[in-house]
Amino acid sequence: MHSSDSDKLKATESVEAASSGLALFLQQFGERPIDEEPLQALFEKVERAKQEWEATADALPELICLLDDRGRILRANRAVEDWELSSVRDVRDRDLHAVMHPECPAGTCYLERMLNRLSFETDERKASEIEVYDELLKRHLRIQLRPMPTHKRPGSSVAAFVVQDITQRKQAEMALRRHTERLETMNEIGEAILAACAPSDIAQAALGRLRHLVPFCQARVTLWMPDTDEFVVMAAYVNGATHLRPGVAYPASDFRSGDDRRPNQHVRIDDLTELADLSALERQLVREDIRAYLSTPLIAEGSFIGTLSLGSDREATFDSEHEAIVYQLADLLAIAIRQAQLFEKLNRTNEQLQTALQAKDRMIQNVSHELRSPLSLISGYTDLLESADLGPLTPEQTRAVQVMRHQETNLLRMVERLLALQMINDEALNKDMLNLGAWLEGIVQSWAARAEKSGIALALDLPADLPPILVDAEVLEHVVENLLDNAFKFSPDGGPVCVRVRRAAGQVIVAVSDSGIGIAADNLPKVLERFYQVDDFTSRRFRGMGVGLALCKVIVEAHGGRIWAESRGEGRGSTFCFTLPATLGAADGRESVERVA
Ligand code: ADP
Repeated sequence: MHSSDSDKLKATESVEAASSGLALFLQQFGERPIDEEPLQALFEKVERAKQEWEATADALPELICLLDDRGRILRANRAVEDWELSSVRDVRDRDLHAVMHPECPAGTCYLERMLNRLSFETDERKASEIEVYDELLKRHLRIQLRPMPTHKRPGSSVAAFVVQDITQRKQAEMALRRHTERLETMNEIGEAILAACAPSDIAQAALGRLRHLVPFCQARVTLWMPDTDEFVVMAAYVNGATHLRPGVAYPASDFRSGDDRRPNQHVRIDDLTELADLSALERQLVREDIRAYLSTPLIAEGSFIGTLSLGSDREATFDSEHEAIVYQLADLLAIAIRQAQLFEKLNRTNEQLQTALQAKDRMIQNVSHELRSPLSLISGYTDLLESADLGPLTPEQTRAVQVMRHQETNLLRMVERLLALQMINDEALNKDMLNLGAWLEGIVQSWAARAEKSGIALALDLPADLPPILVDAEVLEHVVENLLDNAFKFSPDGGPVCVRVRRAAGQVIVAVSDSGIGIAADNLPKVLERFYQVDDFTSRRFRGMGVGLALCKVIVEAHGGRIWAESRGEGRGSTFCFTLPATLGAADGRESVERVA
């Protein structure tokens, strides 16, 4: 049962008890013919009935009165004394309204109106009940008034008047409502903060909603700028509107008062005009008719970042509950503002990084382009020298030309790789169906001589019935060549190198593994980045630009595949794997059956 229901029930029971006692009293006193019993016995009965009624009524906390039809008290229970209205004895025959409201300023108050109706009502079914806040008694009351006809004077009535003090329940209900509203508004503020990105939008969203919980007429969120020791207004709420006042800055000294109130302290002032040593800001607030003032610091990750302050034109507006709400909001606001600031900073850094990366890419492309023309001239003259079109060469000159040719080839390869890094994408590919197995056999074959020279056992491991794949074989060759080149280069002591192909769901996986210097776990994802080279003693012995694997990544991804490195650690070999989408078999027209081999 709800507490209000049980209150109602109790009050009804009180009325019932009062009424039945009264009925008995009237019956005994008013209706029996006097000569039926000896007078003495009758008086005794009446006295007993009266005492029973009094005992019942006195034991109840409710104020219970029997009223005549003009609102005068016939009898009141002891609660009239507990309520400090009068004594039980003195209250008799007095006007109930005058007792309850001795100094009623209103012409007619709710109580008078209720009692006025009494003279017209004799029907007890016309009972009335109200819940009211009594301004004079400063209590929430539930009042029940039940007329009861008396047979003694036909047409006249008495009434049971029961008043229950429900102040505590009302206060609990109001506290619960306030608490719920606070939770709802805090939740709304939280959501608004999440939806906003810029610190000033966050502050603005919070101030707009705080209005539902705290009665202020001015509010502002300021951010402290440590470099200039100034406070910049991020959002302000003045006279019912939320304003953004970006750029309005106050020197920190404006916040310091003679009484040493500082912006990094909680401050609650009931009336600014009563203080002697106001800060410049407080003086300005007084000029704007602000009386009560509440200010709290915004602290994020232990650092002071700004203030949240409220003003009201009424003295002592802010109580401890308002203070608690503002502190809670300040915590939320500080974290949100800090995160938004970090997010903004991150975005700015990202933009700078993107610009720098684009500039770098442009520079690499430009330099590579510029290098191509002189390189082709050098190549042309080297051809002329080599073919002796410019005259016969001495053996030293021939060796020099060979070195030039070798270095020129290296240089040209580097330039082409750099240009390819920028230019290769899905659209630039010229794809055709490829028999992957036969193609890989050809490549591995071409590496046989170098393998033998390097003491490397080169193997190819192919599954049966590989599906044909749709690739740009000329471009893809760079990937296999580069992986083989690295496998050889980073296996200085020889050892096995294996090219293995497997089929998996919807794709073909090609893996090139060696048993060379290996890669530390930390470096595995980085080796595929542009210009990255593992910076340790073992790797530094080998030359390169850190472009090969980055180019492999671009080529594989342009084909819709993925590339990654695996290694069990330094000195324990490496495996580079890449995938290519398996395509519809050209030969049989059916989709190839992919299963992890
Ligand atoms: P580079 O063009 O300089 O050879 P890559 O992009 O091909 O650069 O390789 C980048 C780095 O990755 C190499 O400098 C090396 O540190 C590491 N790396 C590549 N392949 C292997 C491998 N098979 N074994 C060990 N380290 C390797």
